[in-house]
Amino acid sequence: MKIERIGVIGAGTMGNGIAHVCARSGYPVVLVEVEQRFLDRGLATIQKNLAREAEKGKITAADRDAALARIEPVLSKEPLATCQLVVEAASEKYEIKQQVFRELDALCPPETILATNTSSISITKLAGQTKRPEKVIGMHFFNPVPMMKLVEVIRGMATSDETFAVVKETSEKLGKTPVLVNDAPGFAANRVLLPMINEAIYAVMEGVATPEAIDEVFKLGMAHPMGPLTLADFIGLDVCLDIMRVLHGQLGDGKYRPCPLLVRMVDAGWLGRKSGRGFYKYE
Ligand code: NAD
Repeated sequence: MKIERIGVIGAGTMGNGIAHVCARSGYPVVLVEVEQRFLDRGLATIQKNLAREAEKGKITAADRDAALARIEPVLSKEPLATCQLVVEAASEKYEIKQQVFRELDALCPPETILATNTSSISITKLAGQTKRPEKVIGMHFFNPVPMMKLVEVIRGMATSDETFAVVKETSEKLGKTPVLVNDAPGFAANRVLLPMINEAIYAVMEGVATPEAIDEVFKLGMAHPMGPLTLADFIGLDVCLDIMRVLHGQLGDGKYRPCPLLVRMVDAGWLGRKSGRGFYKYE
């Protein structure tokens, strides 16, 4: 099946990045949000990031304008019926994604592939909300999407070989490197990364070292480009907590218990970069 138009649900951190990359790669994009202000914010980010790429000479001014013109921002899911692939990047809440998948299944032609950018929710479970489980797949992009090369492509229990092949090929056309992962809590990246971040937060809570010291250890000792606490601020502490709760709930092992300091910081509204304060302060 040929992918001619891509739908993206959610224009937040990930959705606007996915729409950006699809449009830059030549695909017409339908970008769906629930409120005009979120759509405006997402489009402003795409505009700013495309402009930066043009300033750096990565794309021409004409590419920048053409990419922007390919994005159709909408507040209704109806135009998604014209897409062969829809990537859902709505908030990481099961109830929201369940509703979105039911709506998409009712709205889109039966051949449309429904992908989710979820960080931790079961692809098989979301597929079970539809009458096309063979067409449901995980397409897990990484933040910032225009820069990060990886897409974890996650096969649910019923995902067909054809769906996998189309999504793999499309990921490559987006300039990404798809890596096949099976459907298990946190997939591969978050299954390993988030317990490490959670452990770093325990180390801060127990006074083992400061956030600055822990980050320095990982940068200098392990050649990580950024330490785990800087990364946690970047991902969003609320997102980190949501993922730890999924790992803890689904795997049941105490080693995945969210660190109480992480819970307290999220309760305080210290969500990292996006709220101006996390383990560090931001302008
Ligand atoms: P975000 O909160 O920045 O954006 C989510 C957007 O979805 C919001 O703008 C919200 O208005 C919109 N939305 C909610 N319900 C909707 C609906 N029914 N229809 C259309 N839009 C809707 O969140 P995010 O960080 O972009 O995360 C989105 C998804 O990507 C989540 O599943 C998350 O786990 C995953 N993810 C996040 C990261 C990250 O680093 N932030 C990385 C990989 C994957």
